[in-house]
Amino acid sequence: MDTKDIIFKLRTQKGLSQDELAEKVFVTRQAVSRWENGETVPNTETLKLLSKFFDVSINTLLGSPRKLICQCCGMPLDDGIISKEKDGAFNEEYCKWCYSDGKFTYDNIEDLLNFCAKHMANENYSAEQVRAYMADMLPKLKYWQNLSK
Ligand SMILES: [Zn+2]
Repeated sequence: MDTKDIIFKLRTQKGLSQDELAEKVFVTRQAVSRWENGETVPNTETLKLLSKFFDVSINTLLGSPRKLICQCCGMPLDDGIISKEKDGAFNEEYCKWCYSDGKFTYDNIEDLLNFCAKHMANENYSAEQVRAYMADMLPKLKYWQNLSK
């Protein structure tokens, strides 16, 4: 879906008029109308407000152009598991298990590897296979790259 359809859907789901939505995110009714006509896309600041107001990620508002994965554990992210900042804004880099309340869960890759080996192993993948896979993947993610700098 395009941004225009997404905004229209979210607004009508909430039972808001264009006027009412405009008031919530400090723009004019004309601006909302232009978004929904596809003439313009909300600017970055307004996207943040819309994201918070509708409780959907900015990525979702933009029609999911990016495939988000947690930059700490590698899990694919959808809006239900994306982490949030203390003020309720989405942090689209991380899942809610790796980052919450402004704090990261793991500061040591071994801890995460142990956790994954324990919880992701199943009849198809042994704990050793999970660990080997994660040990190869995790260091490529932003969080661990930044940490090792
Ligand atoms: Zn994660």
